[in-house]
Amino acid sequence: PIMTQVPSEFLEIMHAALPEHEVKAFIDSLSQASPVSIRKHKHRDLFLDHTEAIAWCPLGFYLPERPQFIFDPDFHTGTYYVQEASSMILWHILSQIVLAGDQPKILELCAAPGGKSTLIANFLDGQGLLVSNEVIKSRAYTLKYNLAKDAYPNTMVTHADPNDFARLTGLFDVIVVDAPCSGEGMFRKDPASISEWSVQHVEHCSLRQKRIIADILPALKPGGHIVYSTCTYNPTENIDNIEWYCQEFDLTSVEMDVDPLWGIKSIHKGKSHGYQCYPHLVKGEGFFFSVLRKDNGEPFSLPKKAQVSLIDPSKKQNDQIHLWATYDDDLQVIIDKIGQAHMIPTIHRETMNFISSQLRVIAAGLTIGAFNKDLLLPDHEFAFSSMVNHDITKTELSLKDALLFLKKELNEIHSDKSSWHLVTYHGRGLGWLKNLGNRINNYLPNEHRILKPLPPNII
Ligand code: SAM
Repeated sequence: PIMTQVPSEFLEIMHAALPEHEVKAFIDSLSQASPVSIRKHKHRDLFLDHTEAIAWCPLGFYLPERPQFIFDPDFHTGTYYVQEASSMILWHILSQIVLAGDQPKILELCAAPGGKSTLIANFLDGQGLLVSNEVIKSRAYTLKYNLAKDAYPNTMVTHADPNDFARLTGLFDVIVVDAPCSGEGMFRKDPASISEWSVQHVEHCSLRQKRIIADILPALKPGGHIVYSTCTYNPTENIDNIEWYCQEFDLTSVEMDVDPLWGIKSIHKGKSHGYQCYPHLVKGEGFFFSVLRKDNGEPFSLPKKAQVSLIDPSKKQNDQIHLWATYDDDLQVIIDKIGQAHMIPTIHRETMNFISSQLRVIAAGLTIGAFNKDLLLPDHEFAFSSMVNHDITKTELSLKDALLFLKKELNEIHSDKSSWHLVTYHGRGLGWLKNLGNRINNYLPNEHRILKPLPPNII
């Protein structure tokens, strides 16, 4: 049982935070199985067997049990994202502070692997601009891929330190800081996290969180909001820090509207408000959140002469692009410095160009492909898009063939067309292949290939 492993100092903190009769219920909940939940893509049909909806997020559902997601092709086409339920409260928070139609610019600062960012992308649903940042390089690439599966053109992925964002003074309407923390809320889902916990580590995390907020504040516009969250319970990283941010900076803690039926506890200290999900009260993991408004500061202004990072395609390039992609007037295609074509919203072009000139950008918009001389080769990520030209051949695969494709072990398809094919499952793109008649070339990048042997009931 987990109880024998948790440090006594942690239990003391919980005793101070909860009424006595709840401590036992809290401790018992740590030995219970974690609920399984997913969040579906706004425009994609869910084929998974699900039970009830998650009250605070219209795209969230609990599952009756944990399937082997790796062997579900719908998981690979981005039909849904596997996300713990409590953290989906971000949807409910965003709907109280911004309107997608107002074209808000949202930064998610600590974004890998992409749970919150894919939620924000679906919340915005093509309007506004989402910048997802991750400071650890390998994790930034995981984030890029998870976000690419949702295929929204109004997104960027950056790989920068929080203090680099000072170059984007006053740009963002909302900054989501899902801070690195001591992870007490993960004790039950990931018991290995217990051994990393110590009072010193809590202190270290709290100081790092203070630094992150101080570093990122210049990038928030006056009147804009910070959504601060952790997956931990102790006040040192949560409400005490909120108090500190409000005292130290021009920030006001904002009360959120939370349905009492959801079981989320409000925590108040001085003028600060925080909200805590506990696993004995909420069907989800431990999670803390709080919203802060910036009262003053410098507004954003686009410099007159920004270096040009996003370039218009040539006439020849444009002809190629239209062979592959069909898109609305409010989108356009730009070419980046390495010759890749990306689709972006026209109204955000200058902002995206400016961000590209200031930070290390690893994805800007929806990637279509890369030019090899004047020939456009489709990018794997473009397979996820609904903007693939209808003239491109699509071949629907069976469950077994879809999994063989994902293992890069599919040898033939039922088609006599020797050309590029978008292979699909449940009608959604899985990847690209070229049919050569007697064999096929599979363009699935090796890093996305399934390595595990397929379960016997499928083969
Ligand atoms: N928001 C993500 C999601 O919903 O999938 C989870 C983010 S996780 C709680 C915190 C992230 O912060 C990690 O990806 C970690 O690499 C990053 N991080 C670690 N130290 C950091 C720092 N000093 N500044 C900014 N981010 C940091």
